[in-house]
Amino acid sequence: MEPTSRIYVAGGETLVGAALREQLRAAGYTRLGGEPSDEPNLTCPRRVEEFFAAERPEYVFLASGISGGIRANQEYPATLMRDNLISATFVIHAAHRYGVAKLLYLASSCSYPRLAPQPMRVEALMTGPLEPTNEAYAMAKLAGLKLCQAYRQQYGSPFVTAIPANAFGPHDDFSAEDSHVIPGLIRKFHEARCRGQAEVRVWGSGRPRREFIYARDLADACLFVMNNYDDAEPINLGGGTDLSIVETAHAIADVVGYRGRLSFDATRPDGMPLKGLDSEPLKELGWRPSTTFRAALAETYDWFLRHIVPQENRDVREAV
Ligand code: GDP
Repeated sequence: MEPTSRIYVAGGETLVGAALREQLRAAGYTRLGGEPSDEPNLTCPRRVEEFFAAERPEYVFLASGISGGIRANQEYPATLMRDNLISATFVIHAAHRYGVAKLLYLASSCSYPRLAPQPMRVEALMTGPLEPTNEAYAMAKLAGLKLCQAYRQQYGSPFVTAIPANAFGPHDDFSAEDSHVIPGLIRKFHEARCRGQAEVRVWGSGRPRREFIYARDLADACLFVMNNYDDAEPINLGGGTDLSIVETAHAIADVVGYRGRLSFDATRPDGMPLKGLDSEPLKELGWRPSTTFRAALAETYDWFLRHIVPQENRDVREAV
């Protein structure tokens, strides 16, 4: 990409999309199309077509699609699958029709088989059953990945797939029920601290392990891949922090300043037992994350305090 390339981040309002837009601006890219406020409805083919015809993006980061944590995946599998399948299909097809110079599609580490050998290498994709709690979403992400390969095979399209570790950061969904573990626990520990609550129940056994990557580091990795990688084979974007949920919960409680007890609610699902990525290929190309887990958690909590808490207090005041 050149500083004046026309760049479109599809899904600019998502956690990763917002981080990508910030990182692109910080890196000196000036022509970002599709402001989140007037981004086309990506589930409507005509809108996507009109947008590409008008904006003619040269580089596309495909970060669109509704996502959610373990409970959202169980409650809304159809919504998640449909939104991800459709938006990816229309954007990938438009990118082909309008001859973009490169497209980077963001898949998900839940697309790996539930019991893939650790750390997960791309060769393990589609070699075993998926984790049932997120099968529909994972299947949609696999379809997007395959679609990029199919366009490359049929038309020679320069479409690349990246598979990120579990991302977190500003602009995430911080709801108590539908979010991923980090924003969910930030909210729960913050509220428990404010109320002086003695105990917080963390979902599951606490034994699963997750590899986390800070959204800004992930965005940086995506820019790096856009500029340095071009292959049909997907590339893992990790190299961050691999922790058990017990360790994760204690780290978040510490950053939030919650001093009460943590208990584990084994009636809630654990999801995949292990989800570490083999990111050696990315490392060999020369990319490493730069934010420590602790600093990333602190920045994320700070964003929650500055953006979500005041908004909710205002909602309460307005309701009264
Ligand atoms: P996953 O990587 O797709 O399983 O996504 P999540 O981030 O939703 O969950 C990761 C792990 O954290 C699972 O084992 C959950 O049971 C556990 N977990 C513990 N507390 C929470 C919570 O408050 N919210 C969520 N989403 N997960 C939690």
